[in-house]
Amino acid sequence: MPGTVVGSLNEDVLVAVGRLPGGGETVIGRSATLAPGGKGANQAAAAGLLGPGVHMVGRVGEDPAGDRQLAALASSRVDVSGVHRTPGVPTGSATIPVEEGTGENLIVVVPGANAELTPDDVDVDPVHRADVLLLQLEVPMDTVYAAAAAAGGRVVLTPAPPQPLPEELLALVDVLVPNEHELVQLTGATAGARTPVELVALARSIFGPVVVVTLGARGALVVRRDGSPALLQPPPPVTAVDTTGAGDCFCGALAQALATDRDLPAAVRFAVTAAALSTTGPGARGALPDAEAVEALLP
Ligand code: ADP
Repeated sequence: MPGTVVGSLNEDVLVAVGRLPGGGETVIGRSATLAPGGKGANQAAAAGLLGPGVHMVGRVGEDPAGDRQLAALASSRVDVSGVHRTPGVPTGSATIPVEEGTGENLIVVVPGANAELTPDDVDVDPVHRADVLLLQLEVPMDTVYAAAAAAGGRVVLTPAPPQPLPEELLALVDVLVPNEHELVQLTGATAGARTPVELVALARSIFGPVVVVTLGARGALVVRRDGSPALLQPPPPVTAVDTTGAGDCFCGALAQALATDRDLPAAVRFAVTAAALSTTGPGARGALPDAEAVEALLP
């Protein structure tokens, strides 16, 4: 069983506004668009489009938004039999006003059914038998820990949204994939631009796993604890139009590549290329590539 994602499914409500509202202010939006989202489901969709055998474990409500999230994932070739419907609780949502012209946004997340995912829900075959288990932090921490503990294969964790990581959890993680901002928060460093050398030092200060830091248009940095030199993998040239969800595509692609026996540098090359391609269209899932498109562009 190649890959399983344990995590969040959300409905994103994207509202186009001429100007973002200030505190206490009302602005009139120009349009509202529904899009499938949630870090977990975005990662699963990316992995599913890249190869077979991807499972999602999570929770949605018994509402139309839940129907839409399941349908969207199934259309990305993800097995959703491990996604439970939760009575009396809405499907998770993220309301995102986006300012036209600048692309600046605000995000209000309501976890809804994602907050109801329990350790019992993740004690299941797709978790025990996955070659690679993908985790993020949009479901309760005790459930994330239980999933990592139940995993039969390698564990890849995206520490987002950033929060302190217990050492018992880090001890179960094989690959930690923060973006630059998450790495800085995780290590308690002061915010600000970093050189690759500084980022390597921060990554090495984290106890436990291999750290792969995603660096937007600069690609990704692989930092191992065995003293081997850090590796910076730049992306192929693309024209990025929307980087929403690029990090989620990176993780889904990394899991698929690791599950199909690529070594870590080759898997990171594959993931950097897939994520770069995902930025060439709108939204988190508007331009997720298939394996053929990624192979054709591999550096
Ligand atoms: P996040 O979405 O978590 O903020 P990043 O911005 O670091 O993550 O992006 C993740 C990956 O997406 C990068 O490692 C890179 O492969 C790709 N990517 C992001 N932005 C660009 C860009 N402007 N041009 C090319 N690739 C990009």
